[in-house]
Amino acid sequence: MLAQRIKNLKSSATLELAAKVRELEKAGVSVIDLTLGEPDFCTPGNIRKAAIRSIKDGFTHYTLVAGISELREAIAKKLLIENKVSFTPQEIVVGVGSKQLLYHAFQVLCAPGDEVLIPIPTWSTYLEQIKLSGATSVLVRLKPPFKLKASDLLKGISSKTKAILLNSPSNPTGAVIEKEELEKIADLAIKKDIFVISDEIYEKILYTGKHYSIASFGHDIKQRTITINGLSKAYAMTGWRVGYAAGQEEIIESMVALQSQTTSNTSSVSQMAALAAIKGSQRPVLLMLKEFRKRRDFIFKILSEINGLSISLPEGAFYLFVGIEKLLNKKYPTSAIWCTQLLKEKGVALVPGEAFLYPGYFRLSFTNSIANISEAVNRIKSFV
Ligand code: PLP
Repeated sequence: MLAQRIKNLKSSATLELAAKVRELEKAGVSVIDLTLGEPDFCTPGNIRKAAIRSIKDGFTHYTLVAGISELREAIAKKLLIENKVSFTPQEIVVGVGSKQLLYHAFQVLCAPGDEVLIPIPTWSTYLEQIKLSGATSVLVRLKPPFKLKASDLLKGISSKTKAILLNSPSNPTGAVIEKEELEKIADLAIKKDIFVISDEIYEKILYTGKHYSIASFGHDIKQRTITINGLSKAYAMTGWRVGYAAGQEEIIESMVALQSQTTSNTSSVSQMAALAAIKGSQRPVLLMLKEFRKRRDFIFKILSEINGLSISLPEGAFYLFVGIEKLLNKKYPTSAIWCTQLLKEKGVALVPGEAFLYPGYFRLSFTNSIANISEAVNRIKSFV
């Protein structure tokens, strides 16, 4: 009955796990949930107020498909000032989260026969979306500390390569691509006539150095890059569903055309909230970052004291990607089984590496209080 492409689709493992945790909690089990890919902070007050104001003012109808002009202008200004890349509002589309814009980017660029290079470990949504476009993912396996280099990509490039997917800082590793490597990747993409889809959603959750957008390295790379970003992570706005894409006008126009036949615009109220987030004080972002840094340092220290785990200090995002290969044995042969048993026996929920095409690891989100994280690590220690 169902179409083959849907039969081939895998639903989001992390969202499924989150649902499982909620079920256990409902049944009265005490679970410390370290699976979530969203900040545990409330959306800052000025943003919520802007949304309430827009409802009171009756700003509750369809908007332009690409997003309201003020918001696209504010995003263009942000991209110029923070990311050092100049876009007109016509080169920007606002959509229902960056997830939708990634989907649209793959739909407008990729077709059967095309290949997309994906460094792994990776967020599995990219693979499923590429599958839906008819293209094929070519996996580029990285080794700890998972920092992508241009030379890693060389092995995967063929005459069919249409695009390279970049995600820095990365989900699930928190690794950042160094500026020199980004420049080399830009040169490679230009030389080989390949597009770049650059998912920069964690740019503001960065603990060392500065974020660089590959599109800022000159006209030629800008023309072949789709920069993807969103408000979810930086402003704790996962439920508002606002993301954006920036790129050359022909590509963005096609993404807008596709959006016009799928979701139209994202919510008018959310767009007003996003405008307040971008134009308002950035202090809440800095406070959140300060708290994440404190947690990262704390958890890195206490996890490092457990024998058998291999850990790299994340440079960005709010995840630790931890190797447990040394702990796997006949009883617990895979990281998926290990994580399931940990949840059953100790009530700690982690995402197994299988969800990121990298078995033998787990992802731990430090989007939880220090007290809960500390208790979770004690439970992990006793499980080990
Ligand atoms: N990109 C990455 C790497 C993510 O981890 C996520 C969410 O987990 C997204 C994009 C999607 O975010 P949103 O659709 O909320 O903008």
